[in-house]
Amino acid sequence: MIKNTKKINVKNKFLLIAIVAVICVSAFFSATGKWHGVYNFFGLGENTVFASSEGVSVHFINVGQGDCALILTPEKSVLIDSGEREYSAVVINYLRAQGVTQLNFAVVSHPHSDHIGSMSSVIDELGADYIILPRVKESIVPTTSAFLRLLDSIENNGTEVIWAESGMVFELSADSKMEILAPLRQYDSLNENSVVVKFNHTAGSFLFTGDIESTAESDLADSELDINADVLAVAHHGSLTSSTAKFLNAVGGRYAVISVGSPNSYNHPREEILTRLELRGYEILRTDLHGNIIFDCTADGLIVYVQNENTGVAA
Ligand SMILES: [Zn+2]
Repeated sequence: MIKNTKKINVKNKFLLIAIVAVICVSAFFSATGKWHGVYNFFGLGENTVFASSEGVSVHFINVGQGDCALILTPEKSVLIDSGEREYSAVVINYLRAQGVTQLNFAVVSHPHSDHIGSMSSVIDELGADYIILPRVKESIVPTTSAFLRLLDSIENNGTEVIWAESGMVFELSADSKMEILAPLRQYDSLNENSVVVKFNHTAGSFLFTGDIESTAESDLADSELDINADVLAVAHHGSLTSSTAKFLNAVGGRYAVISVGSPNSYNHPREEILTRLELRGYEILRTDLHGNIIFDCTADGLIVYVQNENTGVAA
């Protein structure tokens, strides 16, 4: 009898501690706000740095006028583009804060500096097992310093090159995979030749489009490929060359993420594109307004967190 009573008391004690702990954690998150709560959770707090060791998340890292996205699963890390060279430290620090010590995959959508500028530094600092590159016609292979630096880093670090081919699939965790959808053929421009990646998780899907323009968009929409996605990384920073009605109708989805700098000389994103996205019911998220944008893939679906909340933009 006494034993039983003691057991019950101990159980009650643990229950009480558990309830107090839950209340404390809830109070912490409600006091610090949604972003700050997740900021720490994702290992980006000023004092507490710990990586999210479980679960799957997709990060759009603010690199001004450029693209940079990170997919994290418990087993794998994938960096899709890296922004201009001046953002090297930003990207490397972000990856380190996430506990990334070596990338599994680096994906280069296409070799323009706003997409590859920091990639050589990232590979030099952290390393990457594989780099996925688009095959381009010899006549348009770039000779820019950004591209030559990247080739040096690939060679020096022994990073294995995978030439992107539509249909390639990479398992990233038990419940997620990355699929290469495009390029579907070789185009005359580097933008159109962008590697298009679809990331599928049970919580939702993401379509990364690089800087594809109307021709590649049309080819994708006409193909047998499943390009429907919950989150669309808007092509070419919201340029008028892209986000055609045909493509957007085929993608569908709920969130449109635009990686863009403020200000930028291209006037990206264009008002007409924003209107096109709004008309289709997308919630528009922009790195120039929202800063870093994080999607947490949970059992309850996608949860989105942004760095800057009071932007006056519907999110
Ligand atoms: Zn670009």
